[in-house]
This record gives sequence, C-alpha cells and structure tokens, in this order.
Amino acid sequence: ATTLATTLAEPKQPPCDQDDAKTVLQVRNICKSYGANHVLHGVSFDIRAHQVVALLGPSGSGKSTLMKCINLLERVDDGQIMLNGTDITDPRVDADESRARIGVVFQQFNLFPHMTVLRNVTLGAIKVHHWNRHDAEAKAHVLLKRIGMDGKADSYPDQLSGGQQQRVAIARALMADPELLLLDEITSALDPMLVGEVLELVTELKTQGTTILMATHEMEFAHHAADRVLLLRNGSIAEDGTPCEVMDESQDPATQDFFAHFR
Ligand code: ADP
Ligand code: MG
Repeated sequence: ATTLATTLAEPKQPPCDQDDAKTVLQVRNICKSYGANHVLHGVSFDIRAHQVVALLGPSGSGKSTLMKCINLLERVDDGQIMLNGTDITDPRVDADESRARIGVVFQQFNLFPHMTVLRNVTLGAIKVHHWNRHDAEAKAHVLLKRIGMDGKADSYPDQLSGGQQQRVAIARALMADPELLLLDEITSALDPMLVGEVLELVTELKTQGTTILMATHEMEFAHHAADRVLLLRNGSIAEDGTPCEVMDESQDPATQDFFAHFR
C-alpha cells in the first residue's frame, strides 16, 4: 500500500479556504426521461474545485443517468450543465471536446481485454486527444508507477485482480488531467477484499485536489471521505450537505429510512 501513498496526480494545491474555490460543475434543473419514465426532474447542485462529492441513492434512483448526462453520454431533456463556465449542454458546444474534459470510470467492463494495460491507458490519449504515442506512453508510465502498477504495463486485464483493473481504469481517466472525475459505483462489482485498495486510491486523489463526483453504496467511505453528500430520491436532490448533516442529522424520515438500511 506504500505505493498508493505516493503522489498520483500533480498536486493542485487545494486552497485553505474552500469557500474561495471556484465552481467546477453547475448542474441546473436538469430533466431526463426514458419514454414515460421520468428519471430526473429538476436536479440542481454545484461542485466546487477539489471537492469529493458522494452521490447516494437507491438503485434505480438515477445516479448513473445523472452521471451520463454530465458526461454527455445522454442528452438532457431540459436544464443546463456548466463545466468551468462552459454550458456543455449547449448544442453549439462540441460534445467530444466537453467529454474530453471529464474523466469517467464505471462499475465494470472498463478495460479492453485484448489490449495490454499500457495500451488501455494510452488509447484514449492517442485516439481522442491526438497525443503522439511516445508522450502518451511516458505519461502512462508515470501514472502507473504512482499507483504501483508500472510492473504490469505489459499485462492483460485478465492477469490483474479486479481492484488492480479499476486502479488502471482510474489512471486512464486521469491521463488528460480532467477537470472533473466521475466515478460510478467503481467498487460495486469487486470482491469485498479488493474494495479497500480502490477506495484508498480515491482518498489519495482527494488529497491531491482532484474534483470528484462519486456514485457509491460505500456509506462508511462516503461518511469519512466525502466533503459533501447528495441524496437522490424521486428524481431530484433530496439532501445536499456534509456527510454528518445528511447521514446523521437529517430530520427527513425518508432519508433516515434510507440510511437505516446500511447500518
Ligand atoms: P441508478 O444508477 O441510481 O441505479 P439508473 O440511472 O441506472 O439508476 O436508472 C434510473 C432509471 O432509469 C431506472 O428506472 C432505469 O430503468 C432507467 N434507465 C436507465 N438507463 C436507461 C436506458 N438506457 N433506457 C431506458 N431506461 C433507462
Ligand atoms: Mg447506477
């Protein structure tokens, strides 16, 4: 675990006063339906620079849909999403360029099985960001070294544990220094033994000042690692506050009921 304690990303020097941090993401009143299924109706929240925000809510509450809207994998029906001041939901703004500013890691199927770790990590940088192979590989080796995985650069995903695969997927998501990192239940498919090493890496990113929105059911982790917690219920944000405010002190019976299931 010592390798995980080393620097993962270039330190972004979080400011002492979080209130002075700029707003990275502004989600304004977004609505998204699948046919008659109104998944998100009027979701609004902000994320400031260097914050780790945990997105909680029951299965089917729309966490993944919200993340896909932010990453423009899904088009919103209404509302705006501002990324460092750019309205990325504006059809005149290039979606590929916006997507390239956001790093994403999903629950599973993150790595291409027929490619080595190094190819997996460099592929997007080469194909999407048009880096030359030499630069991409140099950056990939730096990132892999920082997560203690450089020795596995020539391995294939099925030669790695699930936890190692997710760490590689995180390294890949960091290749282009994203302005925002979206983590969608990245430990949900893992053997419980392997959850810790992945969460430890998230903690490490937090200390480096990475701005993260993270959908998770790891309540203990959300409680101690998140700066803020959002609770999604019935298609909108039911709670938005510190972990203590939302998870321990909410007076809303539905909120209390939700967290009671995890105790
Ligand atoms: P969560 O990630 O919180 O479990 P999801 O965003 O995956 O929730 O799903 C929210 C709702 O949207 C569910 O009712 C789900 O069935 C529906 N849904 C998600 N993706 C699609 C899709 N591509 N087409 C139709 N319905 C979808
Ligand atoms: Mg989901």
